[in-house]
Amino acid sequence: WADGSITDAENSLTELAALAETAGSQVLEGVIQRRSRPDSSTYVGRGKVEELRAVVDDTGADTVICDGELSPSQLRNLEQAVKVKVVDRTALILDIFAQHAKSREGKAQVELAQLQYLLPRLRGWGESLSRQGGGAGGSGGGVGTRGPGETKLETDRRRINQRISRLRREIKGMKTVRLTKRANRSRNAQPTVAIAGYTNAGKSSLLNRITGAGVLVENALFATLDPTTRRAQTTDGRWYLLSDTVGFVRHLPHQIVEAFRSTLEEVAAADLVLHVVDGSHPDPEEQVRAVHEVLADVDAGALPELLVINKTDAADPETLQRLKTLWPDAVFVSARTGAGAAELREAIDRLLPPPPVELELTIP
Ligand code: GDP
Repeated sequence: WADGSITDAENSLTELAALAETAGSQVLEGVIQRRSRPDSSTYVGRGKVEELRAVVDDTGADTVICDGELSPSQLRNLEQAVKVKVVDRTALILDIFAQHAKSREGKAQVELAQLQYLLPRLRGWGESLSRQGGGAGGSGGGVGTRGPGETKLETDRRRINQRISRLRREIKGMKTVRLTKRANRSRNAQPTVAIAGYTNAGKSSLLNRITGAGVLVENALFATLDPTTRRAQTTDGRWYLLSDTVGFVRHLPHQIVEAFRSTLEEVAAADLVLHVVDGSHPDPEEQVRAVHEVLADVDAGALPELLVINKTDAADPETLQRLKTLWPDAVFVSARTGAGAAELREAIDRLLPPPPVELELTIP
């Protein structure tokens, strides 16, 4: 279902399919539900549940992936109705982040996000808790909710909470190390440029173009999860640092934004944000909006920003014209062919802070 238009839902679903394929699934069929809000019990409406079940039977699918975040009970009810595993967008994205995280900090952050997602869902696996809905208060209710099951649940919860505390401590420690590194960098007065943008927009490719470094480029969502920092030089010979950040996707689960907040905060310390946009995407404006939202969320919304419209080689000329009118200051490039690279360098030169001036104080 989608609260926006059908095209919106279709774009979001296409992205969901790409995400699922990145996670290693084979996507068989998409089903769209037109509704103003999700069904409280089964997420999709009654009729759609029937349709979904038919699709599952016809295709032999073993999983249904929903484009949104389901409550624990919606997940369980839908699973019972369609008789196969149901996964929501959040779980899928968390899974991909887990597969792709490379650094120790990245791995710890993803695990933390996964545990936070899991914790409220633990009870979802047991019988429904009568204590929840009663509203009578006190300790009298909950017949049938006691016993070995609950004890096990409590143990699991306690273990998870302990692990969460430990991960938080570790991440704090790693953050200190990272901040020290950053402080050293700024002491060296090297300006920093952060590359931000939607997943698959071509950030790694552009980083390669600008620095000649061999960063992994993958035609898959989430090839870049851990920030990579490279040195680059302006045309007039000044060095600056260029770092890649986490790729954004539509409806980035809040657990992920939380978990990667510290990494994203690196962006807030940058002198300039290179916001890379996939010009060949059907709706680049929507992607830009999504990225702006996250940037504002990590206090990087007010930084100087250079919009870089990438993939001009593959983009439709009409779209490019529209974007030129909309963003006259944007630079249009193709990381693949190298078109626009010179303009991009010039724009970076222009927008980077001027080299520090040696101040000489003469006291008369
Ligand atoms: P990232 O996720 O933003 O880092 O994106 P990548 O740099 O990994 O690129 C994602 C995909 O887009 C890869 O398949 C690239 O080869 C492709 N790509 C990147 N830049 C261009 C471009 O200028 N033109 C075209 N046609 N494809 C590009």
